[in-house]
Amino acid sequence: MIHEPRRADSNSAGGADAGRRFGDGGLNLKPSGRLHVPDSLEAGSLARPVGDTSVVDPVFSCRDVSVFYSAKQALKNVTIDVARRQVLAAIGPSGCGKSTFLRCLNRMNDTIPGARVTGTITMDGEDIYSKRQDVAQLRARIGMVFQKPNPFPRSIYDNVAYGPRIHSLTRSRADLDELVFTSLQRAGLWDEVKDRLGSPAISLSGGQQQRLCIARALAVQPEVILMDEPCSALDPIATAHIEDLIEQLRASYAIVIVTHSMQQAARVSQRTAYFYMGQLI
Ligand code: ADP
Repeated sequence: MIHEPRRADSNSAGGADAGRRFGDGGLNLKPSGRLHVPDSLEAGSLARPVGDTSVVDPVFSCRDVSVFYSAKQALKNVTIDVARRQVLAAIGPSGCGKSTFLRCLNRMNDTIPGARVTGTITMDGEDIYSKRQDVAQLRARIGMVFQKPNPFPRSIYDNVAYGPRIHSLTRSRADLDELVFTSLQRAGLWDEVKDRLGSPAISLSGGQQQRLCIARALAVQPEVILMDEPCSALDPIATAHIEDLIEQLRASYAIVIVTHSMQQAARVSQRTAYFYMGQLI
């Protein structure tokens, strides 16, 4: 199901109101995380998504995408577009293929032995699975933020400077300093770390580490940011910080976020894709 919710009031944490936002008679993720599926979908046939899967001028266009881990099919004929300057939230119960879908977009499934992707995914109209595609170059255009903050065991500065250095994005130390500054500022972290850029990244709090990882992703000047449950290891205040940041970042980037929280999807996304047992429903 593709749902285009109104921008949720950021003060609204969800509850009964969040349930209503998603309409009557559709799918509903209860607070328990269990998905209540209409009888027609329990029969096991391939679901036809409800709502518009396509957008005008998408960044990504996914058509009939299936993913197999050896013999097991984890994603089934998923067709969906990712819009520019919008947040698409992927939601659904655990094990339904959300992370698998996300990893298709930057070809991270390539690194999993036995994983096979079929169907077509284009980025800016180019087939990202074509033999001509340079995978390192593709990944440089797509920033990724993971569930658990994973800063490198280096200084705050070096974490952000890492990507620009290996991709030779800057020509002088002054350029690099500027890029580190703008990335930290965009990630909402500059004021908190400007006096200790040489300190180890692991000395930061969990929420700060996650924003550092976002700054590190931004430093390679990507077009898209993929986030795989970026708040699940964070407390509510750090979560609110990241959600505010997502809202600011979407002015410049397409963002795809996997979340297990329907309330978070309502707060941060403009479109929500429900996955269930490998299908987009
Ligand atoms: P979600 O993100 O919705 O929790 P995943 O995409 O992680 O779901 O997993 C979808 C299905 O694919 C699950 O059944 C999971 O066990 C399987 N799967 C995920 N990653 C792998 C892997 N590396 N090897 C084999 N099976 C996997």
